[in-house]
Amino acid sequence: MVHDTFHDWLAEADKVVIAAGAGLSAAAGYDYGDAARFRELLPALYRLGLRSRYLLGAALPPDMMWGYWAVHITDIRHGTEPNPLYRRLRALVGERDHWVVTSNVDGLFARNGFDAGRVFTPQGDYGFLQCTTPCTRRTWPSAPFLQRVLAAYDRESGRVRDPGALPVCPNCGGDLFPNVRVGPEFVDDAFMPTGGRMAKWLSQFQVAEPLVHSATAPLSQSATQPLVRAATAPLTGPATTPLDHSATAPPAGSATTPLTGSATQPPTRSATAPLTGPATTPLTHTATTPPAGSATTPPTPSPTTPLPLLVIEIGAGFNTPGVIRLPMENLVRHTPGARLVRINPDHPATPEDLAGRALSVPVRADEFLAT
Ligand SMILES: [Zn+2]
Repeated sequence: MVHDTFHDWLAEADKVVIAAGAGLSAAAGYDYGDAARFRELLPALYRLGLRSRYLLGAALPPDMMWGYWAVHITDIRHGTEPNPLYRRLRALVGERDHWVVTSNVDGLFARNGFDAGRVFTPQGDYGFLQCTTPCTRRTWPSAPFLQRVLAAYDRESGRVRDPGALPVCPNCGGDLFPNVRVGPEFVDDAFMPTGGRMAKWLSQFQVAEPLVHSATAPLSQSATQPLVRAATAPLTGPATTPLDHSATAPPAGSATTPLTGSATQPPTRSATAPLTGPATTPLTHTATTPPAGSATTPPTPSPTTPLPLLVIEIGAGFNTPGVIRLPMENLVRHTPGARLVRINPDHPATPEDLAGRALSVPVRADEFLAT
């Protein structure tokens, strides 16, 4: 029944947003909390008592930390094998006009047939490193750095035998870190233009109210979601938002936005976050709506016309609800005719006010989407 409804709704939709959290990658075989896999990949850290790839609060010497990053990121980000679940998702979307937003930093959408230009990753990408300071807004592909680490890495001890193999900033010689959101030092320049384009795409929907997500979400961070950001900003930027984030426009998520939480930091720093858009610009989508009585520019489409938008949200729970889950509820809530499919074995509940246009699927994505 639920399966049939999903396929009916998908058939009726000509625009799709896929919104994914850690649960999707877990269903695809990349479960950060899989202790057996952790032991297989990182036996030395397992012997130290660590069990999760999040390494929350773990205090490791730099060479062991880089050993971890090199093994973990190479496994989850630089694999070349096609992933059946992501390929299945891509096939289901087909030729429909679509966008992806994901808190995952593993690149699995773009590596499995999705157009990278339409995959917004507000939390960053393990495919790049940045200066920890940062001394520059530049970032560097992570693979060459990690390959040097792995060449000097001793799996049994978890140590990197050659200190010269440890990555340092090519610009200032300081520390490097994966280009993912861990705090205000996050260099998001490479990601926010995509967010701006997604916000512009979303602005075609006649959203009735500003897409400001709830700030009441739980602030705790557990070990099922690596990256978090803070949250008082709106969901999406207005259509008038500059897309190039030039010098006059602070990048979304820049230092003006409180940024918190990380895979390697204590959970006390975490919070929730906006989906997209400059943190300093409230979104009202009204900027694109002509004033009442305007004779020259009628609204298109009419606000009363149901819009065939289907939001397929997968594996986004309550660890960082402000990144995916709450913004998607608000998007559907304020978009006439939009529908939400929530695929989530742990937190499948949907808001009561979306009754009739929200489908709760309490099943893992790999099972639900298999047929
Ligand atoms: Zn630097």
